[in-house]
Amino acid sequence: MIYAAAGSRAYYQGAPEGAELQLKGIGEQVALGLFIAVPLAAVAAAVPLAWGWGLSGRDALIAISMYLITGHGITVGFHRHFAHRAFTAPRWLRATLAVCGMMAVQGPVIDWVAAHRRHHRFSDRTGDPHSPWRYGHSFKGLAKGFGYAHLGWLFDRRQVTSAEKFAPDLCRDRSIRRLSRAFPVWVALSMLLPPLAGGLWSWSWRGAVTAFFWGSLVRVAALHHVTFAINSVCHLVGRTPFRSKDQSRNVWWLALPSMGESWHNFHHCEPTSARHGVGRFEIDTSAGVISVLERLHCISDVRWPDRAAVARRFVAAS
Ligand SMILES: [Zn+2]
Ligand SMILES: [Zn+2]
Repeated sequence: MIYAAAGSRAYYQGAPEGAELQLKGIGEQVALGLFIAVPLAAVAAAVPLAWGWGLSGRDALIAISMYLITGHGITVGFHRHFAHRAFTAPRWLRATLAVCGMMAVQGPVIDWVAAHRRHHRFSDRTGDPHSPWRYGHSFKGLAKGFGYAHLGWLFDRRQVTSAEKFAPDLCRDRSIRRLSRAFPVWVALSMLLPPLAGGLWSWSWRGAVTAFFWGSLVRVAALHHVTFAINSVCHLVGRTPFRSKDQSRNVWWLALPSMGESWHNFHHCEPTSARHGVGRFEIDTSAGVISVLERLHCISDVRWPDRAAVARRFVAAS
């Protein structure tokens, strides 16, 4: 039962009145697992197939570097700093984080933050822009909700979040407003940097083309799906060791690619915490980056989780 703990929790209120919790059978669990795993496995299979002729160590290094730079721009910048104010940063660093995040091609920083704060405000209830529970708790409803939370909400024209209402602090910040408006410039930079690096490094057009494929296209797609998985997978499957008022889950197998964001159950309990992975073996590279920035005296007022708060929130492994 992958959502057994749901029985005692607040459901998405848009579900039909009196809807009964239906537990999935083993066949349905397998189907959901395949739905998640097969496309990812296909991408993974493309790597060894292309190695040596369409993918080189150079392409991999460029792609991974860009993934980490833009990924931490989202996790450390957009999410922990701008959306939740987990630490205070000077202007130059705020601008750097905003630009790195926008190079992940997930929208202008102000819009991203507004939608995300709305998600926390209404988490898994009416008003949440991307809850997988919005179509009820049957298998069919959850399959539809999973697609909506993962990708569909982005194409839903009714999903407009007021930046003035949910991100007034960023709307007031002139430099952030200006950077946010220049979003297309950061997208172009994100697409052009890998082929430029690959072309100069190999001194060939072919090097530029393969770096564009892996470092621009595949890297953006991979990070897109990992970020989207926090909205879909991490509100549907996984463990709930902490007490939260929603369906947020800790998903260990997403910890590395999501740079610590998949410890989502704890995040919903303590949204302002600079660290999401609070367990001994819970990898959280974003918290690592924040820690380095703090030691370099680049940031201040970092909100590290305190042990007492973590213990208070801890219920039991589920
Ligand atoms: Zn969430
Ligand atoms: Zn958050």
